[in-house]
Amino acid sequence: ARGILGPMTTTPADLTAAARDLFDASFGGEPDGVWSAPGRVNLIGEHVDYNGGLVLPMAIPQRTHAAVARRDDRTVRLVSGDSDVQTVQLDAVGPGTPGDWPAYVVGVLWALEQAGHTVGGADIAITSDVPSGAGLSSSAAIEACVALAVDELWGLGLGGDDAGRRELATACQRAENEVVGAPTGGMDQAASLRGREGHALELDCRTMEVEHVPFAHELLIIDTRAHHALVDGQYAARRRQCEEAAHDLGVELLADVPADGLDERLEAVSDPVARRRAHHIVTEIARVERSAAILAQGPDADLAELGRLFTASHVSLRDDFEVSCDELDVAVDAALSAGALGARMTGGGFGGSAVALVHPGESGPIVDAVVAAYRERDWTAPRTFLVTAGAGASRDA
Ligand code: ADP
Ligand code: MG
Repeated sequence: ARGILGPMTTTPADLTAAARDLFDASFGGEPDGVWSAPGRVNLIGEHVDYNGGLVLPMAIPQRTHAAVARRDDRTVRLVSGDSDVQTVQLDAVGPGTPGDWPAYVVGVLWALEQAGHTVGGADIAITSDVPSGAGLSSSAAIEACVALAVDELWGLGLGGDDAGRRELATACQRAENEVVGAPTGGMDQAASLRGREGHALELDCRTMEVEHVPFAHELLIIDTRAHHALVDGQYAARRRQCEEAAHDLGVELLADVPADGLDERLEAVSDPVARRRAHHIVTEIARVERSAAILAQGPDADLAELGRLFTASHVSLRDDFEVSCDELDVAVDAALSAGALGARMTGGGFGGSAVALVHPGESGPIVDAVVAAYRERDWTAPRTFLVTAGAGASRDA
């Protein structure tokens, strides 16, 4: 999709105004309102969602905005950035239809109808400064702002509390799984709809229960700009290997395997590759628990220890789960050499972004070191963002 990103220097007010302007230019007149939802970054807990474990994502300040007006028919007109206006009939939406980015938007309306809610057509104009395809979940951001808009415009009554937002998140996930056709867990949508400013969410991926833990620190995101092929096949293979290990261990999900005496327990897994995959999952869940406990200390949190957990997570993803790549490893190593407290790949792997936990005000030399390491190798320069924990989806105008 071309030109779907706003400039990175925009403030939320600019983006709200930009969404209104785009609405007026595309459809004429005023929207009924403007809603926005953030991208997210996962602090720690990678590939554990489909194993029923704990993850620790947070919303980021970058957001996607939707200026929306309700229509009286079942037509959806939508535009994003400098795309052409697309028109979709709600009754034509279903698994695999429509294709391309409109699926993320009308998929949400479809999923809400599937869940028994009454919705209808709309005119929707989207602006965003969430980088797309960087592993920061621009997909959940676009789904979540549309879900919140639809909730309010059709009086579904879900956006006002966490239980309702949980239902909206389920609809967004279903849109992505079934209409877009991407087999993702529910972490991204939970972070975007249920996130809280200054906090990360400790999310239990089996129950979708959330604990908010304070996160008042700066996090450096390094978008490697690398995207390696075969990601879908590798993802499916990892899921299969985890299922195989769970089967050998006699548990439903790997989250059911206790972390104590792990090496002995894992002897029950016959395939050595599946054994290493399970080792990552069980140790990663333990690292998430420890990270959340550290952050719960608030201002007294031991950031050095949190950093060590980040780095241990990366090593486990690199060596046991084998989902890293050279670009991620070089970013992590350069960040650590330049003084980061810890660093790790974040997201599914094989490219995307890394995160580094940095002392306040000390990200400059770390960015320089990563950029220099990439230049030395003649790689595309990485993009970096210094973020704090942002707010969840909201109505802005
Ligand atoms: P990520 O969620 O990590 O950014 P995904 O591949 O899951 O990567 O989602 C990216 C896709 O979501 C884009 O290719 C596009 O189809 C859709 N998308 C995300 N944000 C927007 C937007 N602002 N406008 C139009 N489409 C978007
Ligand atoms: Mg996504």
